Amino acid sequence: MTGIMDGKRGLIMGVANNHSIAWGIAKALAAQGAELAFTYQGEALGKRVKPLAAEVGSDFVLPCDVEDIASVDAAMEELRARWGKLDFLVHAIGFSDKNELKGLYANTTRENFTRTMLISCFSFTEVAKRAASMMDESGSILTLTYNGSARVIPNYNVMGVAKAALEASVRYLAADYGPRGIRVNAISAGPIRTLAGAGISDARAILSWNQHNAPLRKTVTIDHVGGSALYLLSDLSAGVTGEIHHVDAGYNITSMPTLETLTR
Ligand code: NAD
Repeated sequence: MTGIMDGKRGLIMGVANNHSIAWGIAKALAAQGAELAFTYQGEALGKRVKPLAAEVGSDFVLPCDVEDIASVDAAMEELRARWGKLDFLVHAIGFSDKNELKGLYANTTRENFTRTMLISCFSFTEVAKRAASMMDESGSILTLTYNGSARVIPNYNVMGVAKAALEASVRYLAADYGPRGIRVNAISAGPIRTLAGAGISDARAILSWNQHNAPLRKTVTIDHVGGSALYLLSDLSAGVTGEIHHVDAGYNITSMPTLETLTR
């Protein structure tokens, strides 16, 4: 079978289990012929990620905790030693203390603000820089964001601030790497039940609200995100960079609840 990712090699960062958005993306890429490497955060997650990688034909699985720059460098050096060239990067990493993903944003602590920004935002700039150094003019880099960057979503709090900065990073990095032909984009996914998603207080209510109020009247799946990621990571989107592409069943275009919801 020939696929649109035949001959392309890429790194997937952020698989925790088979519910992870990064896993939905990995499946879509592998089905179209991409060769994949994975990173995992800590040995406990490594035990889950290795068998998943094997399912898509990969034995290239590396530890990487983005809070520790030495671990980022070690993973990237191993990638360079084995592959030399990289065609794409997926950064699907986010973290904030769940005790601050509820209540008032105003109560965010300095410590958690800094940690959330480092892991959920600045790590993208650090890994993109290292990945770009291995890319030629068809390179493509992708991160994951959420509409809480642009609008107030209850309890999303400091993650919304980090995602706003992450989206700005996408635009600046797209401008930095554009002259070399390397593209940088983000997918803004609607809410999905994942490990990270469960850390947000009242996540169930937010999912249900989206399902009833999005134009498509559904919540999206990791496979929906995978399909859009495949487009952004392949040459099909060769003219697209600096884009925040919504994969949210259209929720972001709405301005008020549906009349069905209001009259229920
Ligand atoms: P997930 O829990 O499956 O993935 C989050 C990943 O971040 C995990 O693999 C975890 O190991 C990794 N991570 C956290 N801290 C790290 C660190 N210090 N070093 C390395 N890795 C670290 O959840 P997910 O929902 O698939 O999240 C992936 C991305 O998608 C995140 O950026 C998240 O904010 C974003 N996103 C999620 C949703 C949603 O509703 N689930 C919606 C929009 C965007």
